[in-house]
Order: sequence, then C-alpha cells, then structure tokens
Amino acid sequence: MQELRWIDAAAGGVLGLLIGSFLNVVIHRVPLMMYRGWLTDALANLSSSQDTPTLWQLVFGTGSAQPKPLVQAADDGLAQVDNLPPLGLARPASRCGHCGHRIRWYENIPLLSYLALRGRCSGCRTGIGWRYPLVELATGLLFALCAWRFGLTITGALWAAFAALLVCQFAIDLDTQLLPDSLNYPLLWLGLIGAAAGWTGVPLSSALWGAVFGYLALWLVFHGYRLVTGKEGMGYGDFKLLAALGAWLGADFLIAIVLVSSLVGALLGGLLLLAGRLAHKDIPISFGPFLAGAGLVCLMIGPATVREWMPFAFPLGGLLR
Ligand SMILES: [Zn+2]
Repeated sequence: MQELRWIDAAAGGVLGLLIGSFLNVVIHRVPLMMYRGWLTDALANLSSSQDTPTLWQLVFGTGSAQPKPLVQAADDGLAQVDNLPPLGLARPASRCGHCGHRIRWYENIPLLSYLALRGRCSGCRTGIGWRYPLVELATGLLFALCAWRFGLTITGALWAAFAALLVCQFAIDLDTQLLPDSLNYPLLWLGLIGAAAGWTGVPLSSALWGAVFGYLALWLVFHGYRLVTGKEGMGYGDFKLLAALGAWLGADFLIAIVLVSSLVGALLGGLLLLAGRLAHKDIPISFGPFLAGAGLVCLMIGPATVREWMPFAFPLGGLLR
C-alpha cells in the first residue's frame, strides 16, 4: 500500500506542475481581463450606443443631458477597446512580455523549461520572473500532498482545487490588491458542495455557519475600523475569502484561520522586508494573501493536526461542529 501512495503522490505532483503552469496564466490574465471589463462597461455606459434612459439620466434626472464631449470621448475610447486583440485564459498564446517572442510548447514545460532556459527568454535573454517556476513548484507539491493524503479520489481532487484557487488568490492579491469574485465564489461553492456531499468531512451546518460567520466577522471589523479611523483596512474580497475558508474548514475553525493568517502575515511581511519591497511605503499590503496563506498552511499541516496544536483556538470544543 505504501508504494501505491508514492505513485499517487507522484501522479498528483506531475498534474500539479501542469496546473501550476496554467495558474501562472490565471494570475497574470484574470486581473487584466477585469480591468478591460471595467473600462469597457464604463465607456459603454457613457457612449452614444446606450439605451434610454441613459445612465446619466438615471443618476442626474430625466431632464439632464450628458455633455457632448463626454459622449464623444466615450465613443472614441470604446472604439479603441474594440480594436484590442481578444483576451482570455486560452488565447492569445503566451508571449515574452519584453520582446513579444512567442513561447513554444517546449519552452513551456513546467520547471524544466525554466531550468533549461536558465530563467531567460530565448528571444531576448530578458530574465523570466522567478515567480513562474515557484508557482509551478508550489502547485506541484500541494497536489502531491493532496494525492498522498487522500489518494486519487474526489476528496483529493477537491482539496487540490482548494489549493489551486488559493495559490491564485494569494498571488493576485499580492500583485494587484484584488481578490476576484470569479475565484472566490467557486471556492465558496466548492466548500459548501464538498460538505453537503460528505467529501470534505465537515458537517454541512458547520460549513454553512463557517461561511456566514467568516463573512460577518470581517464585515464587522471593516466597518468598526472605518468608524474609528475613517480608513478602509481591507475589502469585500477578504470577507468572501474568509467565508470560503469557513465553508471548507468549518465554523469552529475560524479563530484558528485568523490566528494562522496573522502568523503568515508576520512571516510574509518579514520576507518582503528582507526583499526590500516594503522600503517604498506606498506599496500596500492587503489581508488577502495572509488569509489565502492561512488556508494553504491549514491544508499542509492538516485540519486535525491544527486542532491538536492550537487547542486554545477551539474554545467551544465540538459545539460548532
Ligand atoms: Zn523576450
């Protein structure tokens, strides 16, 4: 049986490397797709092609007319956006961000290509970010762990999806301070569905209340903090992410998640400080990467072991389970 576990882990690891390569595309393109979508919506709402009553009239009253230059500028902008090449996850093919060199299939093999190319574009020799192989390696190791622990089962696949979505949220929030709904919602739903079907081992009621209390807890902190300081310390994406983690791990796990996320925050802050990223004070660091990191740490250590190591984080014992 022990040999079979190693075979499962190896298969999971290889699949994870391949998925990790795709996650790099997700991390890079999902924010770009969001930016383009927001700009397109804004321009379309101001352009001459909009329905009546216009958005302008809905805001300023039926008698008001949108200034002509604003309509003209929106039409021009919309035409420019329409001329952009399509942008999706599958297309266009990956290119070097520096010289436009099209990345061929043999230059796109997880980890191996990075090592073979010695971290440089074959077209212009510009360095390829170390983040690419790191995301591939991390995803490979996380998938291998899921396959090792759960075998090649639905439960294993589900936790691998959990890991993949969190890796994306971690990196996207670090880059852009965004936590896309297009990743948060599938994460939340998969957690609830996994509980309902008995795949995550968390009772459905605990998953549901985990989502509710996870969202509410940060919502209260957010509005309390804003009331006291007049500033916004986090965003709605953070509430949704903690709701999703609550759905996966259960309501009684929320305190542990927040505690682990502050540890992750201290660790990540220290690393970024060492890397000199925080030397510029205007680089904002948000809460999302800490939450996503906490979810990944709980997966790696294993929920049962987290319970053993942090009994103080489960004051109500089995009450919420
Ligand atoms: Zn290049």
